[in-house]
Amino acid sequence: MCNENYFWEKFAPIRYICRNWNKFASRLSQGDDFAIGSRSADNYIYTMKTETLSCENFRLFRASLLRWYRRNRRKLPWRETREPYRIWISEVMLQQTRVSTVIPYFQNFVQKFPTVEALAAADLQAVLKSWEGLGYYARARNLHRAAQALANGREGKIPDSYAEFRQLSGVGEYIAAAVLSIAFGEPRAAIDGNVKRVLARLFLIDAPVNDSASGKIFREAGDRLLDREHPGDFNQAMMELGALICRPQNPFCRQCPVRKFCGAFARNRQEVFPFRKPREATPEYHIAVGVVRRDGRVLITRRAEKGLLGGLWEFPGGKVRKGRETAEQACLREIKEEVNLEVKVGARLARVKHAYTHFKIVMEVFLCDYLSGEVVLNGPLDFRWITVEEIGEYPFPGANHKFMPQLIKALRS
Ligand code: SF4
Repeated sequence: MCNENYFWEKFAPIRYICRNWNKFASRLSQGDDFAIGSRSADNYIYTMKTETLSCENFRLFRASLLRWYRRNRRKLPWRETREPYRIWISEVMLQQTRVSTVIPYFQNFVQKFPTVEALAAADLQAVLKSWEGLGYYARARNLHRAAQALANGREGKIPDSYAEFRQLSGVGEYIAAAVLSIAFGEPRAAIDGNVKRVLARLFLIDAPVNDSASGKIFREAGDRLLDREHPGDFNQAMMELGALICRPQNPFCRQCPVRKFCGAFARNRQEVFPFRKPREATPEYHIAVGVVRRDGRVLITRRAEKGLLGGLWEFPGGKVRKGRETAEQACLREIKEEVNLEVKVGARLARVKHAYTHFKIVMEVFLCDYLSGEVVLNGPLDFRWITVEEIGEYPFPGANHKFMPQLIKALRS
């Protein structure tokens, strides 16, 4: 039954810890008369307004959105199928990654690994190679592990039950809701960053979208709004609206199919929503890396499978101890510690900058010549001495690709 007081009954009061009260207070005081909050120590009651969406309007909202989506949706390779495997691959790739970047990766991936069984049977190195450049490599490792679990326990069939699908490696709330709603019609809202932004503006939700503590309010708002008869199309329509119309900056409100239901549009507050918790400063690390040459080959090592860039190949190196050593000295020390080799550190080949989600690096890369010792691994999982022609066969992190053309040229000269 439709109950327009649903949100107020459900969400008021919901208390979350707000560590940045002052920033919130100053934003709220800039004319946000609609935002009703109260302060008790550091607690703050987030609010949402739903008066623009009465029972009847909920129905009209869904109809308007779906009509717009069916006319305007982009033709994307994963939209030509309802095959759960392909939808799953696409949703995993699309996390944190642009559609235009994903398209060629998706096509290549499903061509190489067309089924759950094919993915399960593939070597992890081949899977990581197909993922090379897409980033967030844990996604690929989790997919591979999940495919193996399905191949072993369910003859490669993807479960249509939310609870079962959630058991698989890397399948969180968003992936499970998106895949199952699109492939099997599971009535569950898929809430990604785009959808949170749309919901925040529609309902004037002042909970920060980048705070996991506020996930519940967006999830329940999304579930309430969901078209239960067409959950797959509805979820995709909300994502598409966020990507094409309700953009982070300068949303195209005049072209928006649901503007008459939108609280932010009605108050001209689109630029205020969504709220975000201020980010902490991103640390930057200085890294020294050595390309060790020996008899026409270079040494590469494979990172441990868990953690950042797990399972990828790289050249030995590590953090420079600030104020205690130069990059050259760090290179020498790291090579000795990591692979037990004595080397001569030569010319600097490159200096590259690279940003990860939570930190940045400045990497100095040196050409080194092998002097003595045999490889004994301390940290890496594996190593190879490879020729310059073989470099392309191994998956390397994005930071390494930034100096790879210079390296290949130097090794060939
Ligand atoms: S009217 Fe504007 S702010 Fe509201 S949902 Fe549409 S694009 Fe977003």
